[in-house]
Amino acid sequence: MKVIGVTRDDDGPQLLERERPSPDPGEALVRTLRVGVDGTDHEVLNGSHGGFPDGADHMVLGHEAVGVVEEPNGTGLEAGQVVAPTVRRKPDGETNEYFRRGEPDMAPDGEYTERGIVGDHGFMAEYFTSPADFLVPVPESVAEYGFLVEPLSITEKANEHAYATREPFDWRPESACVLGNGSLGLLTLWMLEQEYDRTYCVGRRDRPDPTVDIIDEIGGTYVDSRETPVDELPEAHEAMDYIYEATGFAPHAFQTVKALDQNGVGVLLGIPEPWEFEVDGGSLHNEIVLHNKCLIGTVNSHVSHFEDAVETLQELPDWLLDDLVTTVTDPEHVEAAFEDGDDQIKAVVEFDSL
Ligand code: NDP
Ligand code: ZN
Repeated sequence: MKVIGVTRDDDGPQLLERERPSPDPGEALVRTLRVGVDGTDHEVLNGSHGGFPDGADHMVLGHEAVGVVEEPNGTGLEAGQVVAPTVRRKPDGETNEYFRRGEPDMAPDGEYTERGIVGDHGFMAEYFTSPADFLVPVPESVAEYGFLVEPLSITEKANEHAYATREPFDWRPESACVLGNGSLGLLTLWMLEQEYDRTYCVGRRDRPDPTVDIIDEIGGTYVDSRETPVDELPEAHEAMDYIYEATGFAPHAFQTVKALDQNGVGVLLGIPEPWEFEVDGGSLHNEIVLHNKCLIGTVNSHVSHFEDAVETLQELPDWLLDDLVTTVTDPEHVEAAFEDGDDQIKAVVEFDSL
């Protein structure tokens, strides 16, 4: 079967041939429909994030997938059922307390593999196997966009964890700001626009730009961080009740504290490389304490977040799906999915259709 992988000698995606996998007990065989590409895949390709499976000379890419159950293999799934796979796994037969509790997304670094990211082959293949428990049903009506369930699930988890910190009091948020106009930021902006009176999205691009057009269409206010640094949001616009960081730009983590309104919460998603810069730690500490602010981090997601994401996917308007997906390519022309110009928002590799 055809797979898209990265080898130790190349930093671009390669079309490779591999044997079709057979499911172990408890696993189903899935025929892949589509696999999305995001910032993490680029980081895996350039070697700044993730790592190869032990002893392998290549890794199959891809962690945002949708497929159809080909062989249920006695798992209780039905042949023809559309599913989206979660990402974290343990190598054969191993487990740990986080997996036993059904919370692998809370496992510490090193206690898991991630398919297509760290230590395990991904889903950019004509077929893949997965434990049935990690395959979340997706309605056929949204199968075409089922590769968005994984990125949406990241935000479902982030929102759940952030809001949980505000549960002890009568929090009445009105304003939310997304930092970053990549695919994760734009999907999140749409989700927050459904909940908040006023939304903002921070980027660093000149108009006209397709991502800024999407921000306008969603109804958010575009903020250019070159003119308005994140910590000046309160003066330029307003202090924010909720901030969702999806830039990976490390100073934003600290500027977020200043940009929050009292009692606000900021959630950090970006995964920056080491980067030293000056911050006024005293003021940050003071600001968090005296204004009951909260800053949390979150990574990955699991089955319940995927289930929430399936609901959200069904609500996304057609225009947003059309505008967000800028490239759909077959495995033979996979380079198109990894081109990284300002016109590229979400690229997809299509292996098959329903
Ligand atoms: P992208 O790289 O597509 O998006 C990042 C966006 O942030 C880009 O549009 C970029 O603008 C913008 N940006 C970067 N720096 C600045 C700045 N200083 N001011 C304004 N805008 C800026 O990534 P994704 O959307 O796929 O993901 C977003 C982040 O979330 C990444 O860091 C990724 O690693 C992380 N992530 C984390 C996950 C988790 O579980 N914690 C899961 C998935 C992703 P431009 O394009 O113009 O440079
Ligand atoms: Zn991702």
